[in-house]
Amino acid sequence: MSARVLAGPPVAAALLADAAARASRLPALPHLAIVRVGDDPASVSYVRGKARKAGEVGLRSTVHALPGATSQAELLDLIATLNRDDDVNGILVQLPLPAQIAEAAVLHAIDPRKDVDGFHPLNVGELWAGRPALTPCTPAGIMSLLAHYGIPVAGVRAVIVGRSHLVGRPLAALLLNADATVTVAHSRTHDLGAVTRGADLLIAAAGRPALITPEMVKPGATVIDVGINRVLSAAGKGHLVGDVHPEVASVAGALTPVPGGVGPMTVAQLLANTVHAAEMQVQAGAVGELVR
Ligand code: NAD
Repeated sequence: MSARVLAGPPVAAALLADAAARASRLPALPHLAIVRVGDDPASVSYVRGKARKAGEVGLRSTVHALPGATSQAELLDLIATLNRDDDVNGILVQLPLPAQIAEAAVLHAIDPRKDVDGFHPLNVGELWAGRPALTPCTPAGIMSLLAHYGIPVAGVRAVIVGRSHLVGRPLAALLLNADATVTVAHSRTHDLGAVTRGADLLIAAAGRPALITPEMVKPGATVIDVGINRVLSAAGKGHLVGDVHPEVASVAGALTPVPGGVGPMTVAQLLANTVHAAEMQVQAGAVGELVR
């Protein structure tokens, strides 16, 4: 038996269609400001992809590309300007930042109401308190994927492998808020397989190719593969693999592919967060009236 494939693109398309419809009901199209510092090729490509997708769903976006030598003070000045600008609804600072800039100082400077990546401590705190918040895009995208495919969450044993601020931790909060029984495993966990075998819902977010092998998976479990790892084939050609060994498909009940699983959810969720931020700003009276 092969696991049911939980494909990301149809779910991302549904999320984007909903975001576009909600955006069209606002008095002005939501505007996302994307800040990039330096010319890291991966960052350049991610930012280009985010801006292109924003345009496709009818959102406005502006890319602020700063030189690699930009100082922390200069970056904080730009963020202060974007915070004050009522025409900007969402602010995203592409990570990583160059070494001379302290990431935390920058993320803490973004107005929490415009924090579409959900990294500001106020949003992190609200999420862990189980209150509405702007939520990191990859974990929120995973929750949308689970809901779309009708995968039960309430009451199930969920194990997350990875405890990063980007994926593992916020996902733990979201699953807990959705009534799962949550365990977070990480690089110091003893006997990882014994922990993962207890999972009805297993999420691999470690960035280690083929870390999760078939004997680590409970038969019939849902397995969400967040990993994106570039590996070289025997022929020397680069390709992307997840954290889950391909043979897990013969044990799991359902599995997300890599690529084409969680990946497409992240950008879709970013744009959904931008629309959500704009709606909240309109409701707070900051940017005019909601048009119905
Ligand atoms: P990270 O390096 O910040 O964190 C990795 C986590 O995995 C750490 O908490 C570490 O303790 C744990 N870990 C590492 N090796 C382990 C092992 N052998 N056993 C158990 N735990 C182990 O990475 P991240 O930013 O959270 O990203 C994780 C993976 O997800 C990467 O492959 C990344 O490319 C991918 N990712 C994908 C998306 C997407 O859109 N699909 C978004 C973000 C990250």
